[in-house]
Amino acid sequence: MLLGLIGYPLSHSLSPLMHNRAFEALDIQAQYCLFSVKEEDLRDTVYGLKTIGSLGFNVTIPYKQKVISFLDEITPQAAEIGAVNLVYRKGERFIGDNSDAPGFIRALKEADQDPQGKRSLIVGSGGAARAVAVGLRDSGSEVIVTSRQKPKAKFWEQFPWLQLKKDLSMSVDLVVDCTPVGMYPDNSAQPVIDPRLFKKETVFCDLVYNPLRTSLIKVAEATGHQVVTGDGMLLYQGAISFEKWFLQKAPVNVMQEALSEYLEGGKKND
Ligand code: NAP
Repeated sequence: MLLGLIGYPLSHSLSPLMHNRAFEALDIQAQYCLFSVKEEDLRDTVYGLKTIGSLGFNVTIPYKQKVISFLDEITPQAAEIGAVNLVYRKGERFIGDNSDAPGFIRALKEADQDPQGKRSLIVGSGGAARAVAVGLRDSGSEVIVTSRQKPKAKFWEQFPWLQLKKDLSMSVDLVVDCTPVGMYPDNSAQPVIDPRLFKKETVFCDLVYNPLRTSLIKVAEATGHQVVTGDGMLLYQGAISFEKWFLQKAPVNVMQEALSEYLEGGKKND
């Protein structure tokens, strides 16, 4: 059974490591590969996987929107987020879905941070921010967004927006940094938000997982805030993909172990 990640270019990804370790642990005869595919070959790749009976695949930049026209259906959540990062098979049909939103929420809950009834501040308004916003809203959290430019997409009109500035301070339960600031190799970049200006009870999440302890996470920890690192979202979007493909529980501990071997050494880029 062939599964994999479609994107371009695809030099690094932790998904093959995580999924192939899961297949091994459960004795599933499958292989998760990287499909670094040029745009003119995207259609044939999707139809080829369908023809050979693949259970599905993941999708990354730059095809999260472009893949939609080659699928039979997309879920309402993927449609609202405007991005498909997971495709799974339902009979003869390929369904496009988004596992970033539920993956983020599952990571929060596993870290004992149920967002229901909480007030959340999302920093940034890119693709990941959109998935996080939908996940938080659908989990019963109030959502406020801050970014350096007011987002133009109609999607964002449902959330209050604030201008992002270094001295931004407000009373929120959760701050989710959805910018790439602090990501390898710019590990020492100054965080765009200052945890010292927030109450002690505010929990800080960073979607960046390489390095695991970003500059934001370090400052937040040093000032006594609870933190949630970005590897949880990576892990659970993978676990949700696995569960949609194989209709069984993902071996989360094995997948987490595979990720930790890389990330705790800070070796990988994405
Ligand atoms: P994106 O679509 O490019 O969006 C990035 C957002 O960050 C934009 O709103 C951008 O603002 C803002 N931004 C960039 N540099 C900034 C700066 N110096 N100051 C303030 N804002 C800045 O990227 P994405 O796909 O949403 O991904 C964002 C990050 O999340 C990446 O690091 C990605 O690796 C990570 N991520 C992690 C997971 C996970 O599983 N943990 C999943 C998805 C994404 P402008 O629009 O003004 O440029």
